[in-house]
Amino acid sequence: MIFACKNCGGNSLYDPEHQKMHCPYCDGMDSEEERKAETMSVCPSCGAPLEVGEVDIARKCANCGNYNIFEERITGEYRPHLILPFVMGREKIKEILQQEFGKKVFLPDSFLSETKLQTIEGIYVPFWLYDLDADMDYEGKGTQVRVWTAGEMEYTETSYFNVSRQMKIQFTKIPVDASLKMEDGIMDLMEPYQYDALSEFKEKYLSGFMGEIYSQNGEELEGRAASKAELDTENLLHNSIQGYQSITPVRKEFHTETKSKDYALMPVWKYDYGYRGKTYPFHINGQTGKIVGDTPISYGKMSAYSLTVFLGTMALIRLVFSILEVL
Ligand SMILES: [Zn+2]
Ligand SMILES: [Zn+2]
Repeated sequence: MIFACKNCGGNSLYDPEHQKMHCPYCDGMDSEEERKAETMSVCPSCGAPLEVGEVDIARKCANCGNYNIFEERITGEYRPHLILPFVMGREKIKEILQQEFGKKVFLPDSFLSETKLQTIEGIYVPFWLYDLDADMDYEGKGTQVRVWTAGEMEYTETSYFNVSRQMKIQFTKIPVDASLKMEDGIMDLMEPYQYDALSEFKEKYLSGFMGEIYSQNGEELEGRAASKAELDTENLLHNSIQGYQSITPVRKEFHTETKSKDYALMPVWKYDYGYRGKTYPFHINGQTGKIVGDTPISYGKMSAYSLTVFLGTMALIRLVFSILEVL
């Protein structure tokens, strides 16, 4: 299905900045109506065949550029409970990239070129958000060492302490991505999200973006949520044990119990920058603008830069010589 503008028939898109539907052709706001497709594999706007991947729920038509939503895939257990709508649109993301990378001397010029930046796509990535209770039962041996001298003698006194901690922590909304296309490590770096903007899922939020259903279900990913909780608990534990020279763990038990899990779509902008046969992927959190990615170095620019430095030095040497001659 496509969201078409009632005024002009153009493709109405979700506008993150205004949090409304917007028709970029006639500037109409909230003027959309649903145009159903006969089949998922043909674009209802132009009739061109659509390339639909196994987990796609929204795609741009390569022929007319309109955004198709495959509502028949968003039903039953695959209907997201929640969605975090994009807060930053394409123009804002371009601005952020300009600010972040505009001053990098050795970055290839094409990195911030309009043609390349136009290829940025917004993707709704499937996540599971876990609420879970964690218990940490910890016992360790701590030491405190005191050293003093009296006369010719140096004395060392080591005191041993039993350290124990029982911690109960309630975690809410631990995010774990359920997409096989997205790298887990990169998706973890997209955090934190601000969850107060989570909304009830509606198809219109997808208009203008790509999207996927989950490839891994909520039970499958519980272990990853528990590991994230364990890491946070370890940090809290560590912070709560201070003032010892050394700590040796004797017993550590950690349990989690999942209270609830929600299937949610989270907003990520993706910029695949191609340079000299290599792709440099950039991921940008569509809510906060946080960027994850490494830029390539332009060796052409680098040697041009060293040449300038070299010429500068040459000029300086010549100047020194000329001063010497005057003397
Ligand atoms: Zn319109
Ligand atoms: Zn089309």
